[in-house]
Amino acid sequence: MTTLNKEQIQTLVGLIVTTQSDQITCDDCFGQIGEFAEHALEGRELSAGMKIIQQHLQQCPCCKGEYEALVDALKEVESQG
Ligand SMILES: [Zn+2]
Repeated sequence: MTTLNKEQIQTLVGLIVTTQSDQITCDDCFGQIGEFAEHALEGRELSAGMKIIQQHLQQCPCCKGEYEALVDALKEVESQG
């Protein structure tokens, strides 16, 4: 089993997200996650701000779980009309 140290992981993450310069915190993400979920559900084009949320969700399992729960809830509301 190969164990990556923190530096190696950060390098890998940096390679994947080379263009990311705006780091946001989970608090920032939670603050806009509702808006992002609506954008995603409606298939709207994502603004720069929303793309930052999207990037955070790809990296943060915690926020991703929260986002998926929110999407499920929104879909349920929609299906109830
Ligand atoms: Zn997060």
